Amino acid sequence: MSQIFGMIEQVRDQAERVISAAAMAALDFVYPPECLLCGDEVDSSGPAFCGKCQSKIKPRLKDECPRCGAPVGSYADLTDGCGQCRRESFAFDRVIRLGIYDGDMRQACLRAKARGGSGLSRGLAASLVNEKRSLFEQLAPDLVVPIPEHWTRRLLHSHYAAETVSREIARQLHVRWTRTTLTKIRRTPKQATSPTPIRRRQQQGSFGIRRAADISGKSILLVDDILTTGSTANAAARTLKQSGAKQIVVAVIAVSPLRK
Ligand SMILES: [Zn+2]
Ligand SMILES: [Zn+2]
Repeated sequence: MSQIFGMIEQVRDQAERVISAAAMAALDFVYPPECLLCGDEVDSSGPAFCGKCQSKIKPRLKDECPRCGAPVGSYADLTDGCGQCRRESFAFDRVIRLGIYDGDMRQACLRAKARGGSGLSRGLAASLVNEKRSLFEQLAPDLVVPIPEHWTRRLLHSHYAAETVSREIARQLHVRWTRTTLTKIRRTPKQATSPTPIRRRQQQGSFGIRRAADISGKSILLVDDILTTGSTANAAARTLKQSGAKQIVVAVIAVSPLRK
């Protein structure tokens, strides 16, 4: 029986590689001359959002904690992180994000996740790179890796936001992208309602590495669409580090305003 499952897994992997190669080739993507959020006309060579929508999805506070991405006041002490993350231990080294998961940004993320949201996902990813380009370049990742989903869940979605976002980031930064190195080996509950310690326990051992040689000594950009409690990113980062990754930077479109 296990042999049969092994074979199914192999066939699925091969298919994924073929699909991703084709998808990569089709990624020479031009944004439509309209805002991806409100549909107003924008300069086709410019950003994917109109000025009004860009300011709507921008966080109110300009500063952020580099360790967890939480919004902070200009004079916050960030030596060991912020008030929200100081007592937590993370396997990742820092977080880069575009905004905060509330209000208009939350609506945008929900639309990006839904069927037909891949264009919006790419637009948000492009905005993230645009906003934080110098930081990305300074961190110089070797590899872009999406937080994977269990294959039984993947079957249900027309596109998977973490993957779409990560691919666009890789394309914009000209960094190698892979979705077959880090895998989800066990299904975990979807809802983010459980307290962090329980979520952490649920996530433990749920990720696997397929080709450790790909990540040994590498600096990895680990991408998801939303960072809620950080438990998922933490478990994925720990798995990558245990397989020899040197640095893990988590990149997301938005972080939850309150993570408890
Ligand atoms: Zn707009
Ligand atoms: Zn923090």
